Amino acid sequence: MPHHADEQRYEKAAFRRSGRTGLQLSRFSFGLWQKFGDQHPYSTQRDIVLRAFDLGIISFDLANRYGPPARAAEKNFGRILREDLGAYRDEIVIASKAGNPIGPSPYQSGGSRKTLLSSLDVSLRDLGVDYVDIFYSHSPDLDTPLDETVDALATAVRQGKALYVGISNYRADRAHQAAKLLQEARVPLAIHQTRYSIFDQRADAEGLLDLATADGTGVIAFSPLAQGLLTDKYLDGTIPEDSRAADSAFLSPDAITDVYRERAARLNEIAIARGQSLAQLALQWVLRRSEVTSALIGASSVGQLEHNLRALEAAELTADEIDAINRHASI
Ligand code: NDP
Repeated sequence: MPHHADEQRYEKAAFRRSGRTGLQLSRFSFGLWQKFGDQHPYSTQRDIVLRAFDLGIISFDLANRYGPPARAAEKNFGRILREDLGAYRDEIVIASKAGNPIGPSPYQSGGSRKTLLSSLDVSLRDLGVDYVDIFYSHSPDLDTPLDETVDALATAVRQGKALYVGISNYRADRAHQAAKLLQEARVPLAIHQTRYSIFDQRADAEGLLDLATADGTGVIAFSPLAQGLLTDKYLDGTIPEDSRAADSAFLSPDAITDVYRERAARLNEIAIARGQSLAQLALQWVLRRSEVTSALIGASSVGQLEHNLRALEAAELTADEIDAINRHASI
């Protein structure tokens, strides 16, 4: 039976506008990068996505690459849409991306017109939708002219296959160039998806946040918990068996060093003094910036999701607290 969403979900939700566009995202977006492939139970994936929607998350982030195997997460999310959330399609912001490698063919990576537009067609089929809300160039491709990549994004909008376009992992200057080219094509650059957390503040230091605002582009911050390093799960010196550091190629157990634990412990103390957890502090820290349209989180259980979404219940961070946090920021 299709899911009947919580009637009160918008009472708990808050939204921010993405740059100068009409696109609005929930303060938290949910990403299906890890543990939404075929090696993890579909029932858990479904429970997390439905709970996220019931708690006011309307923005879901995918990519052709997410799995494993590649494309599995879009297929699984497509099944949830088909079987549970179909009636709510017009309320849900679905993002897809192409450009990071998914195979050996020159058209399974990069920023060429063929890579981007052919991948989008497959994503639409896997998701079972006529359009995605946001289509991203997943990473810059320095061998393909930026004009070609940008033109492919604009084509996706003109074809009605995407409503908005975004870029991800671009440096500030290239992002600015992309924004200008898209403006000339009369398809605004709606959003830049970038890594941003207490442990990785390059987006701010390198001027990306400021430039995005000047260009009228929103910013969505991925890995705001540094893939789980900004939680208390690794503090006791062990690496839980089902954690990302134990079972993902993207977070090495070698990241759990004494230096890391010392910094995370100090941040944890700040969080506890504020009456919240380290995860909640880290999310609140990301969302303190008005340039950040949405914090793009992951979760491997409903419990983690519910816990993290309580991040904004605490008092706003003071300037002194932000200074103290930044003293323990680099690992
Ligand atoms: P986070 O930094 O939020 O890390 C999420 C992971 O941290 C969870 O899957 C879980 O991992 C752990 N975790 C979360 N909450 C808790 C908690 N309360 N207590 C303990 N552990 C917790 O984000 P992700 O790195 O997952 O990235 C989020 C999304 O961003 C992705 O799904 C993707 O959509 C996008 N992204 C985009 C990229 C790009 O290149 N554009 C690159 C990376 C991500 P576990 O339980 O397994 O340890």
